[in-house]
Amino acid sequence: MSKNGNITTFPFKSPLPKHYNPALNTPYFTHITKKILTDFYPKKCPSPECNSRILDKEISTRPDLIRCPQCRYLTSRLSHTPLHHFKLPIWMFGYVLYESLIQYPKVVTATELSKKLRIGYNAASLLKRRFQLFASDQLPKYKQLTYNALENKFKDFLLPPNENRDITKIMAKKPYTCVDTAVLYSAGERASQGRKRYRHSGATSSIYLSEKLGGRQVGTLVQTIAIKQGPVFFTSVSNQKADTLGPIIKDHLPTCTPLFTDQGYPWLWGIYKNHRSVNHSARSKDNRYRFARNRWSKNGVHNQVAEGNQRVLKTAFASYGYIKPEYSQLYLNEFSFIKNANVFGLDIIVEEGERFCLSKDAFSSNEKTPGNGAVAIRRKGLLPQHIVQKFP
Ligand SMILES: [Zn+2]
Repeated sequence: MSKNGNITTFPFKSPLPKHYNPALNTPYFTHITKKILTDFYPKKCPSPECNSRILDKEISTRPDLIRCPQCRYLTSRLSHTPLHHFKLPIWMFGYVLYESLIQYPKVVTATELSKKLRIGYNAASLLKRRFQLFASDQLPKYKQLTYNALENKFKDFLLPPNENRDITKIMAKKPYTCVDTAVLYSAGERASQGRKRYRHSGATSSIYLSEKLGGRQVGTLVQTIAIKQGPVFFTSVSNQKADTLGPIIKDHLPTCTPLFTDQGYPWLWGIYKNHRSVNHSARSKDNRYRFARNRWSKNGVHNQVAEGNQRVLKTAFASYGYIKPEYSQLYLNEFSFIKNANVFGLDIIVEEGERFCLSKDAFSSNEKTPGNGAVAIRRKGLLPQHIVQKFP
């Protein structure tokens, strides 16, 4: 506007705040971000008189600050949370959570965020990384919840000792748990520049480049632990050895769980007494056919739940194009967090977090000691979470 008040001058200077977007309900997304911060990372008053009172007095002009209603102590809402030193408007974090939840099983990519929020690609990928950090921080609560529920359900449960008995009816109304592994972004012949991987075969070798090209890990091997119509957990692993997969399974599932896999897990016998496996390459008794008709499911034993989840995962991750194996765990955590949030909801992990006091790490600490809060968050969030190895 000119001095006269009616002629617009160029270049036009917008009176609207930066990142203003008329298409998005920003107050709503601000509310989501605030709710996440208050529920998952509540701040307490350090003053001894206030008796660790939760800070909940808002400042209308500064959504990033919070104050003690009693002594008016003022602090940042964002410090020592996954939003430490967050420079974008805080509603954007709420937007990512909202979009990720409603778009599941599709994933929200950094490119998409950059276009919809009108921010640069780098800003968008850092925003996504913060969301992954939040997901990785909260996921252990879903794991604990699942573990406790399974333990409760199958405390003294035993499958019939005769392996040829059909267990469809026994398992019908119980949580059906499957474990399987899958490969994302396999190092095909083209990635190895036409060299055959003659030395090794199988899923593990397909994530490594040919030895002549250095044998670096380029693909991602995923261990899936899935429960029918329930939660799913993905872990990025370097190989399929018992020493690698065993501890992960034991960490997620109590040993009384009825566990269904393919033939790749013979070592589970003896640890999981309710373990059953289905032979995917069972031969047909009839000469006309190579494989048996029941090689995917026999006597009610199958691992369709894990394979179904892997199909969803593969389809979703196709829109990323490619992700480095170093960062695969962050992406997998994000994906399983969203799935589990759709199964359990978010409120339950707020309660669980309080009951089990799970968040003992950097995020929930309200102290300003270096190496504990912000530094730990950076380290956890920005460094690779999966250790890449050469082919064993
Ligand atoms: Zn106070």
